[in-house]
Amino acid sequence: MSECDYDELSVWQDVLDEVMSGHVDGLVCPFCEKKAIEVDTEGASISIKCTECGRWIEGQNSY
Ligand SMILES: [Zn+2]
Repeated sequence: MSECDYDELSVWQDVLDEVMSGHVDGLVCPFCEKKAIEVDTEGASISIKCTECGRWIEGQNSY
């Protein structure tokens, strides 16, 4: 992981927090500010993707 990826993680943090709280609908992409976020929670990992600008992140499910 590069420093750049680490910066992206902090940008995604708000969205990640929402997803962790169970809010997966109507999320706004922190990069393009469109409501195009697609969330996929499978087992121990969460993948969040913007269908508009193509940015995505994968995180650990903390439940
Ligand atoms: Zn986007």
